[in-house]
Amino acid sequence: MNILITGAGRGLGYELTSEALERGHAVVAGVRLPNETKLTALAEKYGERLSLVELDVTNEEGIAALAIQLKEKGVSLGAIINNAAILNSRNTQIEQLDFNDVALTMDINVYGPMRVVKHLLPLLTEKDAAIFNISSEAGSITHAYPGDYPYAISKTALNMFTQQLHVYLQKRGIQVLSIHPGWMRTDMGGEEASLDAKESARGIIGQLEQRRTPDSRFMFVDHEGNPMPI
Ligand code: NDP
Repeated sequence: MNILITGAGRGLGYELTSEALERGHAVVAGVRLPNETKLTALAEKYGERLSLVELDVTNEEGIAALAIQLKEKGVSLGAIINNAAILNSRNTQIEQLDFNDVALTMDINVYGPMRVVKHLLPLLTEKDAAIFNISSEAGSITHAYPGDYPYAISKTALNMFTQQLHVYLQKRGIQVLSIHPGWMRTDMGGEEASLDAKESARGIIGQLEQRRTPDSRFMFVDHEGNPMPI
């Protein structure tokens, strides 16, 4: 399978890339700065199975150009994993909220995956294709808490985008899931987190390989495939 992953240079994105390559898949790894990433070591190890591409999810022109470039090379995709995201205004209460932070979070965490799907969907032509949106339990309305407003709201909105895509793409046999990857030890999750990002990546790539039976319900699951509360 050829898997496009955004935010592939560190954290979960790096581990998803590494895990997919270890299992024999090909990866188009989207990073903001292709020359400044530890992915170059993986590129040496895996050769042509890893393509490093410049991909800033806020740059629609850049994503459109990437889609053309991949199409010209005859690339087809089996999966898109929308992983790139930020978490800012942590624990900030509504009275102190800075709307520049809210706008930036929405631009990256919600409009980012929308831009990526808008331009790269035509390349998603492999059999049993899938789109995995990396969401968060913070986006669960059932477990809403006051704080992390931009992040939580962005993940709830991402979940809506997942379901809209699911309805739109079901007839084409493209599976669309929102996945909570767990609380992971990454720059975002911090050192206290309970889960190794590698373990989460293993579960997520495993779900791509296993492929679920299509379901008309909204599919929000954790990295092991267990249902998450909406
Ligand atoms: P990190 O902060 O460790 O990494 C974030 C990644 O997103 C980096 O690769 C970063 O690239 C990339 N990124 C940020 N902005 C952009 C942009 N504009 N364009 C392209 N890439 C961008 O996060 P994690 O690895 O921890 O998180 C991965 C996913 O998992 C996210 O969707 C997050 O919301 C979700 N998640 C994480 C949890 C955790 O505990 N860590 C818990 C629940 C969900 P760069 O290096 O260029 O900055």
